[in-house]
Amino acid sequence: MGAPGAGKGTQAVGIATHYGVPAISTGDMFRDNVKNGTPLGKQVDAIMKAGDFVPDELTEQIVADRLDQPDAQGGFLLDGFPRTMHQVDALDDYLDKHGHSLDAVISLDVDPEDLIARLLKRAELEGRADDNEETIRHRMEVYTSSTAPLLDAYKSRGLLVAVDGNGTVDEVGARIAAAVDAKVGR
Ligand code: ADP
Repeated sequence: MGAPGAGKGTQAVGIATHYGVPAISTGDMFRDNVKNGTPLGKQVDAIMKAGDFVPDELTEQIVADRLDQPDAQGGFLLDGFPRTMHQVDALDDYLDKHGHSLDAVISLDVDPEDLIARLLKRAELEGRADDNEETIRHRMEVYTSSTAPLLDAYKSRGLLVAVDGNGTVDEVGARIAAAVDAKVGR
């Protein structure tokens, strides 16, 4: 978990490799659908461009379908999900039903002024439709109001691993691996 620009996507790939599990990114799955012009893509395109959340039920369904795949049976890393309390509950239900549970919830903390700079740089490099200043601001607000409270919920369950997300990709990656290894007793 982390604000837009915190480095979730970048670090998700590294940490998933570290643990030999797939990185499952809701943002990437939605973007693939938009790119390929699928019915789901057509449904979420405008929502994503505006920086709003895709409806919970839709998001929960694509995550459940993805977690059902064979490569996720030995574990998985979720990137960008859950983002609302409703999604937290849906994930709990899914995991309960399948006899699984979360090992850790990683939060990446980055200085706010760096976040905007990172996102504007990514806009130049990748041209993502939602990386313009107005939408970035909106996504930040949505994160603060809707997603940040989830950190408290996971903290009170003893699952939260808060990591300093400032620094190079390798520095932050090493910090995450060390913190999560310690948490899961590896
Ligand atoms: P960022 O964290 O930089 O905003 P993501 O790739 O995680 O980027 O998400 C991009 C967009 O995809 C979000 O602004 C939202 O529209 C949609 N999205 C991704 N994950 C979710 C989710 N769990 N619930 C609702 N919408 C989501």
